[in-house]
Amino acid sequence: MAWVIAIAAALLLAGVWIEHRRARRLAESIAAVRRHAAEIERFRAITQSLLAGQELTGTLQAVATAAGDLVVADSGYITLCDPDTGALTVAAATGSTGAWVGKQIPRDGSVAGWVTSHGQPALIHDLSQDTRGFREANVQTGLKREVVVPLRSHGEIIGAIGANRTADMPTFGHHDVALLERLGDMAVLAIENAQALDHSRRARAGLAAKNAELEEALRTKSEFLRNMSHELRTPLNSIIGFSELLQSGSAGELNEGQREFLTPAIRNSRHLLQLINDLLDLAKVDAGRMELQLAPANMRALIEGVLEDSRGLLAGHQLQLAHEITTGPVTVVCDDVRIRQVLFNFVSNAVKFTPDGGEITVRATRTAAPLPVPAQRASDTARLKTRPAVWIAVSDTGPGIRPEDMPRLFQEFSQVDSSTSRKSGGTGLGLVLCRRFVELHGWTIGAESVPGHGSTFWMLLPEDGPLRLGDAYARAGEGGS
Ligand code: ADP
Repeated sequence: MAWVIAIAAALLLAGVWIEHRRARRLAESIAAVRRHAAEIERFRAITQSLLAGQELTGTLQAVATAAGDLVVADSGYITLCDPDTGALTVAAATGSTGAWVGKQIPRDGSVAGWVTSHGQPALIHDLSQDTRGFREANVQTGLKREVVVPLRSHGEIIGAIGANRTADMPTFGHHDVALLERLGDMAVLAIENAQALDHSRRARAGLAAKNAELEEALRTKSEFLRNMSHELRTPLNSIIGFSELLQSGSAGELNEGQREFLTPAIRNSRHLLQLINDLLDLAKVDAGRMELQLAPANMRALIEGVLEDSRGLLAGHQLQLAHEITTGPVTVVCDDVRIRQVLFNFVSNAVKFTPDGGEITVRATRTAAPLPVPAQRASDTARLKTRPAVWIAVSDTGPGIRPEDMPRLFQEFSQVDSSTSRKSGGTGLGLVLCRRFVELHGWTIGAESVPGHGSTFWMLLPEDGPLRLGDAYARAGEGGS
């Protein structure tokens, strides 16, 4: 009977022991899960602070703080290698190592130096006893334990992150190495992002400063051109006036030789005046001082007027000048003085470049066309809006323009065929001004050409005038551009 009781007691004791072990294992598992959950939470917070998009200094500080927090240490730090000299510098640090920031670490005789040179993590339980002979200042600061891992970017070691504990804190383990390695991967990405961000911020600031400089230079140039043009125009007008007076014979009859000298003098003075007027207009547009006088203009009358004015250009040329204007009213809200100037430039170029026997035709057609909408901000991409428009084109049967010369057509002082242009006495500014005038109206200008078969210069004008910001249309009488 006694042995039955003994067996029962033993079984009971065994049961209690097994239950106790199970409870202990359960408690250990719960503790491990809690630790794991805390680590995940720390990682979540770290990721958030690293991805906050702060500048480089803030990111490095966040990495050092994260290194210390993650392994529950007294302090955390990050060191970076100089890509040129290889020198190792403490980029950010917390706790007892906070005073090291900005200091260089010796490659020999420091844990971070050893880690970056060997590309391996270091786990040190007692710095004063380590056989690698580290002469770290942390021995003096009371820091005894250290864990350091290398930082790698595209296979290259760029630095190290580490953490320290004092003698009264537990030693670091391999789990801490794994945690810092995971942090290292994130830190490298965050540092690269911050560097790119810093770089683009600096580039943007540099660009803004350059823009301001350019604007100032442009303003000074325009101012200079405006003043110079005014100063030159007055005496030039008087030279032309007196020369014409002499030519007319009002100051006494001229002999053949005097007349021969006077004619080129007047022609060249007029050319100079045209150049000065063009420069003045260009300076005004550049300085934003060109005011458009907008009003509905009858394009039929405008075209016929320009053709009438161009008759004088045809003197001495054997050229046909014709026009084809669509039936019905053709009205466009514009500054008719400027549009007349553009059309006159197209026609006079056609006359200049088309050899005798050729034809010049001015066409005007109503159409619906996609036209540019003004941008609200400099960063806006160009938008187009289909609107009722009038297409005005001047075609000639002249020599045409080579495809490689086409992009230079609307650029300052760009005469694509200098021999003909020199002969014809152009300034190389006419088409530039045409483009500026048309663009001021928010319209489009262009040219097409088949070398050997002539050219067509055109402009596309929306019937209701320039489109303003906020989709408001400039109506007659509003004025200004
Ligand atoms: P320019 O005062 O020299 O005529 P423009 O700006 O009006 O200046 O024209 C620039 C250049 O474009 C001209 O010098 C010429 O080379 C070319 N060009 C303009 N119109 C024509 C045309 N109808 N045919 C051929 N080339 C032309």
